[in-house]
Amino acid sequence: MNRQYDVLIVGCGPCGIGAALKLKEAGLNIAIIERSTPGGKVNIAPRVDNYPGFTKVSGPDLAYAFYERVSNAGIEILGEDLLSLEKNDTLFTLKTDRETYRAKAVLIASGTKEKKLGFYNEDALIGRGISYCALCDGHFFKGLPIAVIGGGNSALKESLHLSHLVSHLYLIHRRNEFRGSEANLEEIKQMPNVTILTPYIPLEILQDDRVTGLRIKNVETQEEKILQIDGLFPLIGQIPNTQFMKIPGVLDEQGNIPVDKKMMTSVPGLFSGGDVLPRLLRQIYLAEHDGIIAARSIVEYLKGV
Ligand SMILES: Cc1cc2nc3c(=O)[nH]c(=O)nc-3n(C[C@H](O)[C@H](O)[C@H](O)COP(=O)(O)OP(=O)(O)OC[C@H]3O[C@@H](n4cnc5c(N)ncnc54)[C@H](O)[C@@H]3O)c2cc1C
Repeated sequence: MNRQYDVLIVGCGPCGIGAALKLKEAGLNIAIIERSTPGGKVNIAPRVDNYPGFTKVSGPDLAYAFYERVSNAGIEILGEDLLSLEKNDTLFTLKTDRETYRAKAVLIASGTKEKKLGFYNEDALIGRGISYCALCDGHFFKGLPIAVIGGGNSALKESLHLSHLVSHLYLIHRRNEFRGSEANLEEIKQMPNVTILTPYIPLEILQDDRVTGLRIKNVETQEEKILQIDGLFPLIGQIPNTQFMKIPGVLDEQGNIPVDKKMMTSVPGLFSGGDVLPRLLRQIYLAEHDGIIAARSIVEYLKGV
């Protein structure tokens, strides 16, 4: 028979962990489904600077501290990949790569994955010159030349943030027109240390044991050039981890999960929080906050079913 829980949480990042601790305190029968390392994206943050209580802390150390809280609280972590989520009558059915579970309520805290450029060496260079989070990692490139790839508002805004830190910033976009706002573009243009390169596409990330350069091509003239850089920020967007969602009407057009102020989706009993929501700023404390609000709402919801 399929195992049944009061609540199943998908994702053991800050949102899932924040919720799990509160739900366990409330005496509910819960588990977290996590396909990778507990702690979520915090594991890949080289240094976390803006988490209350620490002046600075390494991402992996903070992720481990999160994990210890979950483990000490006796919360079950199912090391499995969620493949599908459905609702049948009042219960949710969650199929993983190993088992099928049922739950009265579900919290989706599965975060996002970065859109990749698709180069063979991209993954290996994350933390060694490649970052997808300017706000988090910009200070590692203080006084160094870097490149940002992207044409939306996040690429423009994060370029502006980075331009105050780095020696030189190349902003590369494949079209002449930017998708981001004119105001943001104008601000970037005023920065003396920014060179805008359009319409260029990246061809190759150059490296020794870190990023050393980027080969790019002008798509109109076919002219190629090599930029000597120490950092590369591909800011071409994020993909929400919601491919398992089989319940209609839960996702927005981008695959994110909109919620109300109680963190509940359009489906009763289905909650969400953290990076998987449609939002501009994705940060640890926001994810944790969502998890705690969701937990409170779940406890209320379960009283009524
Ligand atoms: C390089 C980097 C540096 C950062 N630095 C900072 C910083 O300094 N300060 C800060 O506040 N924020 C920082 N952030 C952002 C922060 O890490 C995120 O905002 C936060 O981790 C989001 O928490 P979350 O719980 O919503 O999602 P996540 O932390 O992404 O956790 C989601 C979890 O769900 C799991 N999951 C996804 N799909 C499935 C599935 N189908 N089955 C099972 N498990 C699944 C994932 O494996 C993951 O562990 C940084 C991010 C990056 C990438």
